[in-house]
Amino acid sequence: MNSISKLDYCLDRSAGASLLPYGLNTLSDPESKHFEEHLLSCPTCANELAKVSLHLKAISIQRLVLVQHFHITGRTFEQMMQQLVVNASDA
Ligand SMILES: [Zn+2]
Repeated sequence: MNSISKLDYCLDRSAGASLLPYGLNTLSDPESKHFEEHLLSCPTCANELAKVSLHLKAISIQRLVLVQHFHITGRTFEQMMQQLVVNASDA
């Protein structure tokens, strides 16, 4: 192991900026490959990616629940948001 593995932050700013796009699968192939190579030498980014992936999974599950709710209630997204705003102002 080299000394980089002992750091708790990433020294490569461009790699840090690639974390979320990589998690969302929106990087180009060369960008993905470059970030994956960085992950091999950067435990900080590897750990962050693991956390980001958990959040993204939770968001996609919530999105599925919302979509099911739309189908059951027959409401549009705008109607749901309107109701959320009304509920929030009542609270
Ligand atoms: Zn890194």
